[in-house]
Amino acid sequence: PSLINKIAAGEVIERPASVVKELLENSVDAGATSIELSIEGGGIDLIRISDNGCGIDEEQIPLAIASHATSKLETADDLFDVHTLGFRGEALASISEVSHLTLRTRTAETDAGSELSVRGGEATAIVPTGCPVGTIIEVRHLFFNTPVRRKFLRTPSTEAGHISEAFTRIALAFPEIQFTMRSGNRVQYELPATEHWKDRIRAFFGDEVADALMEVESIQDDASLRGYVADPSVSRSNNRMQYIFLNGRHIRDRSLQHALGEAYRGLLMVGRFPICFLRMNLSPQKVDVNVHPTKMEVRFQEGGKLYSQLLKTLRHQFLTTDLT
Ligand code: ADP
Ligand code: MG
Repeated sequence: PSLINKIAAGEVIERPASVVKELLENSVDAGATSIELSIEGGGIDLIRISDNGCGIDEEQIPLAIASHATSKLETADDLFDVHTLGFRGEALASISEVSHLTLRTRTAETDAGSELSVRGGEATAIVPTGCPVGTIIEVRHLFFNTPVRRKFLRTPSTEAGHISEAFTRIALAFPEIQFTMRSGNRVQYELPATEHWKDRIRAFFGDEVADALMEVESIQDDASLRGYVADPSVSRSNNRMQYIFLNGRHIRDRSLQHALGEAYRGLLMVGRFPICFLRMNLSPQKVDVNVHPTKMEVRFQEGGKLYSQLLKTLRHQFLTTDLT
């Protein structure tokens, strides 16, 4: 592989959890209703994701693994109107540059599936294979040809923890999709599809958290905010249980976190952080998700408005409920 491709790969694929994030996002974008993740050795030895999504047409496979090729945007203007999780067309190319990747896929239009392997960017010919409609991707020996990156990997159990977090963010954002995660021969999560977001939250965080949640909802112009915030009597010693999703994408946003802190001011003990699960939807033209390759940072056109909408909604909620 050329040096340029490897550098590009490094930006998106930092560790096994980055692979998992990208592949899960692709499965969601493919319209899957069921997604299975299996890992071995903290994802360093194996990451396998299978979905029952739309699959990839045989003729499209070379493009799917080519750098900067995406089927999700047609014009440059679409970059400012992103409706899918992926759009940069970098993930599969980057992952296949630094691993042994096998892809098996079939669309509903054909009876036979196609299989392709890529080792460090070198692809084999596409051969027919039997497989259900959808896509199965196996990534083995991650960073086998990038020793420096490999050296920076932590222990398998630490890497598995990062994968678990990446899985949680996506499975939380899409409760209507069934998800399974296996680590080694252990089933870590088995999550049936549900219409009720709280069921999915409960499956991850248990009864104490789920039972402390208050529903919040607010719609202002084209910005909607829905979800749950916990009664201040149930809090955390760090801000890790604050899940904010913008148009289905998990984000970390300083300003929104600050609004949260303000809303809870005086209600929490010093050093405690509120728990929240919030889904925001904004028209995609008002959000720039193309700030960073991992898309976790976003830029809002009307950040101040969102800040005050969140603050107002929560303050109203706290004023109108009997807090324990
Ligand atoms: P992006 O998601 O930004 O388009 P990727 O490199 O992640 O770029 O994927 C490249 C292309 O491969 C996608 O645009 C899509 O057409 C196809 N693809 C990848 N994964 C899947 C999948 N699980 N199901 C169907 N198509 C997929
Ligand atoms: Mg993608």
